[in-house]
Amino acid sequence: MAILVQKFGGTSLQSPASISKVISHIKHAKEENYKLVVVVSALGRMPDPYATDTLLSLIDRSTPLHAKRETDLLMSCGETIASVVLSNELQNNDIQSIALTGGQAGIITTSDFTQAKIKSVNTTRLLEELDNYDVVVVAGFQGQTSTGEITTIGRGGSDTTAAAIGVALNAEKVEIFSDVNGIMTADPRMVKSARQLKIVTYTEICNLAYQGAKVVHPRAIELVMQANIPLHVRSTYSTETGTLVTNSSIKEIPDQLITGIAHMSSITQIKITNREEMHRLHSEVFKVLADAGISVDFISISPTGLLFTVPEDYTQTAVDLITNLSFHPQVTKSCAKVSVVGGGMMGVPGVASKIVQALTEKGIQILQSADSHTTIWVLIHEKDIKGAVNALHDTFQLSQVIDQGIK
Ligand code: ADP
Ligand code: ASP
Ligand code: MG
Repeated sequence: MAILVQKFGGTSLQSPASISKVISHIKHAKEENYKLVVVVSALGRMPDPYATDTLLSLIDRSTPLHAKRETDLLMSCGETIASVVLSNELQNNDIQSIALTGGQAGIITTSDFTQAKIKSVNTTRLLEELDNYDVVVVAGFQGQTSTGEITTIGRGGSDTTAAAIGVALNAEKVEIFSDVNGIMTADPRMVKSARQLKIVTYTEICNLAYQGAKVVHPRAIELVMQANIPLHVRSTYSTETGTLVTNSSIKEIPDQLITGIAHMSSITQIKITNREEMHRLHSEVFKVLADAGISVDFISISPTGLLFTVPEDYTQTAVDLITNLSFHPQVTKSCAKVSVVGGGMMGVPGVASKIVQALTEKGIQILQSADSHTTIWVLIHEKDIKGAVNALHDTFQLSQVIDQGIK
């Protein structure tokens, strides 16, 4: 019998009304004779009582002593609670179900608390329960180490749980339900005219997701891509099929120059100028940051110095480490990265100049830029985010399906 994995995010489980929509999607899949695994995120969003950020607010995480192991024990409660609430509601609707924690569902992870990686999924229990029940509800975002410690797999990780289970069970498809109609050309909260993408490749969406389009976690896409399992991103509040993410051999995928615009905020830019000790600067700064587990981005190395970004939360630690090396960093906080993503831009001249023109016309200062064959990134001040994303969305006319050839 075909297996379907459905994942419902926090906003889909926020209220009795939204939970009843979830139940109707599950009922519909059951009527289509699927064996169902349903993965859930924590209920609602901060300040809802069991949302992940609300749980995190119970402990003081500013102290360096806060233990990541205990943080994971705390955060995992959100998804565990959600699995029980949904399973209970399913039973009230005469659907036989059982709730499992990530560990009980066979999700084995590394022991990198708060950022653990799924190593394997032992499907024995899942398959057993799929025989016993109509629906197996699994708490997303969490797993267990081989020694039984509870872990979480990084924020937004329930999508990855669903994808990993889909791959392990060789599901017919994985459906990610959220509060938007599908994957759009930009965050619809930011761009009113954002258009829904009907069918896209794994690679395009993986890029968009890595650059901040948080509607689906990039790791989830990587997993389904390796197993070639179709992924649908759709709305809990509609019966439309949403966006199909699949491989590029499907003929109907339109050949778009630009797929979409993503953004990411809370970034700090760090500049260090030092001609005299250039070799020491180049060799020591990135090493101390890497040793402290701080990931750097937008790296630009020149004979006169270094320019790069770090996540804003790590600003003080990074500045302290650099100052301890006797260098003097110049810091610009509250920056944002805006990414123009599109597999079709490879070899097409004029994309970068269109971006620069669109932003400068709006008086938006570009602090740094970088590019690859599928993405152009610009670093700007956070206050300019909305203006920048809308200007780029307009300049590439992403609200319409058109020939985006650059003149
Ligand atoms: P969930 O709780 O369902 O996992 P998330 O908040 O993680 O929901 O993701 C859904 C949100 O992603 C949407 O509400 C939307 O604001 C945001 N988003 C960002 N970029 C995009 C995009 N390109 N397409 C659709 N939604 C996007
Ligand atoms: N509840 C977790 C988070 O807020 C996991 C998820 O939403 O996927 O990050
Ligand atoms: Mg999410």
